[in-house]
Amino acid sequence: MRYAENADPVITLTSGPVNAYPDVLRALGRTVLYDYDPAFQLFYEKVVEKAQKAMWLSNRPVILHGEPVLGLEAAAASLITPGDTVLNLASGVYGKGFGYWAKRYSPNLLEIETAYNEAIDPQAVRDMLAKHPEITVVSVCHHDTPSGTINPIDEIGALVAAHGAYLIVDAVSSFGGMKTHPEECQADIYVTGPNKCLGAPPGLTMMGVSQRAWDKMKANPAAPRASMLSILDWEQAWSAKEPFPFTPSVAEMNGLDMALDLYLAEGPEKVWARHALTAKATRAGIRGMGVDIWPARDEIASPTTTAVRIPDGIDEAALRAEARGRYGVVFSSGRSETLGKLTRIGHMGPTAQPIYAIAALAAFGGALKALGFKADTAAGIAAAMTEINRDN
Ligand SMILES: *Cc1c(COP(=O)(O)O)cnc(C)c1O
Repeated sequence: MRYAENADPVITLTSGPVNAYPDVLRALGRTVLYDYDPAFQLFYEKVVEKAQKAMWLSNRPVILHGEPVLGLEAAAASLITPGDTVLNLASGVYGKGFGYWAKRYSPNLLEIETAYNEAIDPQAVRDMLAKHPEITVVSVCHHDTPSGTINPIDEIGALVAAHGAYLIVDAVSSFGGMKTHPEECQADIYVTGPNKCLGAPPGLTMMGVSQRAWDKMKANPAAPRASMLSILDWEQAWSAKEPFPFTPSVAEMNGLDMALDLYLAEGPEKVWARHALTAKATRAGIRGMGVDIWPARDEIASPTTTAVRIPDGIDEAALRAEARGRYGVVFSSGRSETLGKLTRIGHMGPTAQPIYAIAALAAFGGALKALGFKADTAAGIAAAMTEINRDN
């Protein structure tokens, strides 16, 4: 049998967006309140408080009303001025991409770039900062999703703080799926969203902003104001007493509220643990069937996405088409430089459950076999089960 392309798949095991938790889907159907109704203004304040709690912030986060690319671009536009020297850390497609935005706002761009299956070495950052005292802003992507690799942002953040520079962190696909918080990495702007590990749809940015980042943005005459790209416009919007600069995404806020409730009620440690175990079982299973993972080392392999290196001679797009057509399972491809070289199995939010590792391995191994590669799917599944059972 084949699953039709124009019908919903059975399981979406992507690196985001992910299918939302059923409770989040229900919450999206709550009443769409008028944004100036006091009930909505009070609700908005409560959601921001929940986000603050989940992000372990000592001040209020900002919600921007567009998926996290809005927050990343807004961070570059608001914080970076032509007087800044930016050090962009690029270990993958998103890290590299932030450099292009940075360059739009300052001509002074330095970069450390690694192979896209590697992570940024804090020693290289230390050396670069020592060599270039003029560096005022550092940008880094925590989990470069198209590579499935993690950068050591807490270590990097400590170096940047000691240097006195501002730190911009893209934690879109790690926050909520592993232990990471804006103040732990000393980020000045920390961008994340509900559409990856929190298991809600794409449509919002959650942003941690340090006091000194607020001050720098306010002192920047070119920082967007009265604009969709503005962060400054939203500084007071959390307060039930303050107006919104424009209409917030009411339904998305309903979904975020539920996603935060679920995260806080389950307990972040438990949520991170099921992401980590699902990824560990998947890695064991991939190797067990005779295939390699993409990240150079296990220590830098993401707990929220397993990037699998595609064996020579296998067409990556055909592999995903087989997984979907035969089993109804959707995976993510690589992006840009990693496109065609790897397939990504997501473990985010509702799909960060060990049993989904088994479904992923069955579909991945079956698809590989269909394309003529001798994958030992049974051995892979057995290896994954060993990991899962070891934890019980
Ligand atoms: C998903 C993601 C974003 C948001 O961007 P989209 O590509 O539009 O989904 C930003 N940064 C990272 C690292 C992401 O994984």
